[in-house]
Amino acid sequence: MGKKKWAAMRKRLEEERKAKLEERAHLERDLAYEADYGFGEGDPGIYEREKAMALIRAVDEDLSEIDRAMKKIDEGTYGICEECGQPIPEERLEIVPATRYCVQCASKLSAKLYR
Ligand SMILES: [Zn+2]
Repeated sequence: MGKKKWAAMRKRLEEERKAKLEERAHLERDLAYEADYGFGEGDPGIYEREKAMALIRAVDEDLSEIDRAMKKIDEGTYGICEECGQPIPEERLEIVPATRYCVQCASKLSAKLYR
């Protein structure tokens, strides 16, 4: 992967990071809104709050994956599968820039596709 490509991937990751942060802020607003409208037994909002909290956790995980990928770009180890040490095909990186694994290892580890 050329230097220009790395810069492009870094930009992609930065954009993705920004989008995730916006998504997180949105979820937190939802959560705050739900919290204002009645706690208590049989509260129908509980399900919504739990859903929002689970989504926030998922966004946080995505953000840490993105940060990790950006760190790897800085260190020069980006695009190498953490499991088998082989280069991850550029086509895969295009689709899932924060991935740590090649397709084979990702399915072997039965991790989420982009991990
Ligand atoms: Zn691999």
